[in-house]
Amino acid sequence: MSETVAQTISSAEEAAFQIDRVRQFVDKEIRPYTSEFDKEQLIPETLIKKLANNGYLAGNFPKVYGGLELGPLDYGRLTEEIGRVSPAVRSVLTVHCSLVGESLLRWGNTEQKEKFLPGMASGDTLAAFALSEPSVGSDARNVETSYTKADKGYLINGKKKWITMGARADLLLVIASCEDQVSAFLVDSNTEGIKRSQIMDLMAGRAAYTAEIEFDNVFVPENHLLGNEGGGFTYIVNTALDHGRYSIAWAGLAVAQEALHAMVKYARKRKQFGTGIYNHQLVQEMISNAVVNVEAARALCTKAATLREEQHEDATIQTTIAKQFASKIANSVANDALQVHGANGFSAEFIVEQLYREAKVFEVIEGSTQILQQVIARHGLTRFHK
Ligand SMILES: Cc1cc2nc3c(=O)[nH]c(=O)nc-3n(C[C@H](O)[C@H](O)[C@H](O)COP(=O)(O)OP(=O)(O)OC[C@H]3O[C@@H](n4cnc5c(N)ncnc54)[C@H](O)[C@@H]3O)c2cc1C
Repeated sequence: MSETVAQTISSAEEAAFQIDRVRQFVDKEIRPYTSEFDKEQLIPETLIKKLANNGYLAGNFPKVYGGLELGPLDYGRLTEEIGRVSPAVRSVLTVHCSLVGESLLRWGNTEQKEKFLPGMASGDTLAAFALSEPSVGSDARNVETSYTKADKGYLINGKKKWITMGARADLLLVIASCEDQVSAFLVDSNTEGIKRSQIMDLMAGRAAYTAEIEFDNVFVPENHLLGNEGGGFTYIVNTALDHGRYSIAWAGLAVAQEALHAMVKYARKRKQFGTGIYNHQLVQEMISNAVVNVEAARALCTKAATLREEQHEDATIQTTIAKQFASKIANSVANDALQVHGANGFSAEFIVEQLYREAKVFEVIEGSTQILQQVIARHGLTRFHK
């Protein structure tokens, strides 16, 4: 057995142990309340504390900062288990652990890591990633939120939009520009000049405190610059989005897997034309497609995990491929799961109603399907050119 295979297997065994605990936690603390979170458009503080107490707000952080030090596969499976039941709660992991946590781990200096990571692990400091703006989405290099130099720091002005956890977070990783330089700042959300408002009634992630955030001459001390000035896009944003895509790949798989379970459960129970609907071949076609797609997405996510574990040069492109595929099939599987439910699929009594709404956003965030297709095409044009 090769060393890589052995490592993957031992990692999988370890994950199996932890995953049981995660499942129990999810079944007890999240599953019964997901519709309530959705309706009330919030995640209770008690749940945030429980996530932290179990280490789930720092699954990928080193132990020295209070994390579980999970490898990529274990962290992916943690994301999947939470994402199957509540995409909103899972999105806390995406922004807090993956986008902000990984950027801090990779580019923060010792002082910054010691200042922020233990609080993030304990749940005292929740973090959000503030890149998008009302007029700037995919073309993220051209952010209009600006910064200028001030005495012992910087002043930030502008507006961010669609920031997951933005209305609740204590720490914002803000991407801003100064002439042609883009830089990243660690900003305390209670700083004077910050105004936040939750965007209500979204189709997806209603409980995830998605916000619009205004910055009016917000002072940020110079030691809160993350990485080098001018390195905000090339280093910080690229690192954050790579980890964000990895998280969304598992999130897409999670929704597809849950939709498949719901589809099968319903198809086995529902009768039409004197027989279970699962006996109708066109229903079987939807089940078959879902099984194949879920298996394929899981294989791609697992391959991305293995390459990330090995720090392989293809880890980032493999992550992009996994995210692009998993986000797409999350939609097709959720769509077919709803179809199998007929009218019942439109009722909030059945999970497929929520899964269908939640799936679409995966094709928009962390690089839209179209943007990722271009990245993958560029990779293909080089890799498969003879
Ligand atoms: C629920 C939710 C949560 C979010 N959370 C966050 C967050 O935490 N932090 C954050 O910073 N942002 C967040 N976002 C914003 C998200 O990252 C952006 O929506 C995303 O980057 C796409 O930008 P856009 O919506 O402005 O679409 P646009 O960039 O305007 O794109 C619109 C359409 O045009 C297509 N398109 C654009 N450019 C090209 C091109 N070159 N070639 C082909 N097609 C193209 C896109 O694929 C898309 O279909 C969130 C969004 C949502 C809906």
